[in-house]
Amino acid sequence: NTTNSSDFIREIIKEDLAAGRVNQVVTRFPPEPNGYLHIGHAKSICINFEIAKDFNGKTNLRFDDTNPLKEDVEYVNAIKEDVAWLGFEWNGLFFASDYFEEMYDRAVLLIKKGLAFVDDLSAEEIRQTRGSLTEPGQNSPFRDRSVEENLDLFDRMRKGEFKDGEKVLRAKIDMASPNINLRDPVIYRISHATHHNTGDKWCIYPMYAYAHPLEDAIEGVSHSLCTLEFKDQRPLYDWVIRECEMPHVSHQYEFGRLSLTDTIMSKRYLKKLVDEKVVDGWDDPRMPTISGLRRRGFTPEAIRAFVRELGVTVGGGDVDYRQLEHFIREDLKLKAPRTMGVVRPLKVVITNYPEDQVEMLDAEVNAEVPEMGMKQIPFSRELYIEQDDFMEEPPAKYHRLYPGNEVRLKHAYFIKCNDVVKDENGNVVELHCTYDSETKSGSGFTGRKVKGTIHWVDAKSAVPAEYRLYDSLLTGEPADGDLIDRINPNSLEVVHGYVAADLKDAKAQDKFQFFRHGYFNVDPKHSTDEKKVFNLIVSLKSSFK
Ligand code: ATP
Ligand code: MG
Ligand code: MG
Repeated sequence: NTTNSSDFIREIIKEDLAAGRVNQVVTRFPPEPNGYLHIGHAKSICINFEIAKDFNGKTNLRFDDTNPLKEDVEYVNAIKEDVAWLGFEWNGLFFASDYFEEMYDRAVLLIKKGLAFVDDLSAEEIRQTRGSLTEPGQNSPFRDRSVEENLDLFDRMRKGEFKDGEKVLRAKIDMASPNINLRDPVIYRISHATHHNTGDKWCIYPMYAYAHPLEDAIEGVSHSLCTLEFKDQRPLYDWVIRECEMPHVSHQYEFGRLSLTDTIMSKRYLKKLVDEKVVDGWDDPRMPTISGLRRRGFTPEAIRAFVRELGVTVGGGDVDYRQLEHFIREDLKLKAPRTMGVVRPLKVVITNYPEDQVEMLDAEVNAEVPEMGMKQIPFSRELYIEQDDFMEEPPAKYHRLYPGNEVRLKHAYFIKCNDVVKDENGNVVELHCTYDSETKSGSGFTGRKVKGTIHWVDAKSAVPAEYRLYDSLLTGEPADGDLIDRINPNSLEVVHGYVAADLKDAKAQDKFQFFRHGYFNVDPKHSTDEKKVFNLIVSLKSSFK
């Protein structure tokens, strides 16, 4: 799939343009600023921006801020940052709350047309009289109030004469409609709360189902793209635009929501993880938020490619998280410098190497991309290797280091293990090895072969590093109860090791491939010049041999 491949929405747009129903394609991404964006939103962002771009159209970023209680400028700013980081430029930046006056006027119009009424029923009573799929709802006893009385009451609602929940404004449509959304939906509620944008100017707020079509029509949106759960609201969307006599008519189309295995895509739940400090903020690298993925080390290119591959389908089902991992590996494979890092260090002393000698060895920055050039890495008498790369009593087919065995050190020499030094508890703390100067990497040595190649860092020049190794945030199956109970206790493991000297000046968000381990990102929040912190983005596909 590429941006240019078609899908049902692009087909609809082509027909609308060809038939002259639409002259300019205008889409919008309409987040509610009540949390940070997640990878599900990235799908909506890519679809809205990329489709508009394909048709030389425009895309607005619009904050759907009609619920004062949950919204905050912190979220507004984070959302702007995330959309821009994903690589998209919006045409207009709008706030639904800037349209409150017009929405109010249109509601007055509905009242005058006999299409809206002030209801005194409580939220609970309204729910109870809504009916069900098999039973029609019941008309409210307040449904037949006169236009004058409704205008007066709605005006007094606005002036703050009533308490929260005391009255609502409902559209007067059809309590017997087979579509429950059309059974006199509530379109305004009272909320004496301070709004992040309009302050205390309003104490009545429009409901999503009423506000959203008006927002679209006010902005001249041609194709209002949303997720499938809004499909049944489409008749109400059309009703609002028609009966409010909007000069511009927008149309709604629905596509499938994105969900991923082993994680969750709900701002409400993600906020709970943040509030209860289960994670290190919205941008915790385990979070499926855009900011979390960024801090983990994902790139906009990888996220866009992942979403593009999913396509604009209406199909459901969880997408395997490994598919997202595939795209970051693909993106970083040829971009990230390759280097060596030891996660769990074991000291090696090369007993036949001169005490004070340091030699510089040649290595490619990225063996698959010669244009990235060469670098020099120091080698001396003391090194660190990975604890896993040594076994005192190896099983069959173990080709790494063990007493008497010889392996290749990547970019360096063959070494052979001769002695094992242990502490008083019997743990191996140091290996004594010898190297063979004839076997230098790149020298063309063919005298004998070894089966294992392991990574290492030079002890004297190595840079201490903290590694944060991540696993999925959730374990178990969705049926296993409350999400908080499904938190994976091993989703973060912190270990201390070393990275090669060439990472001495690595900066926040720099990404590297560590030979045999995987891709790592310099954590922007915790990494300092004194202590580098590396987030595991994704392991290499191939396991250790
Ligand atoms: P959440 O349920 O996570 O809080 P939301 O739908 O309430 O999400 P909004 O801020 O209203 O969040 O979403 C903005 C836009 O992003 C909407 O058009 C919505 O349909 C879309 N969107 C939200 N979640 C997903 C998802 N998982 N996949 C695709 N699009 C999504
Ligand atoms: Mg929403
Ligand atoms: Mg929501």
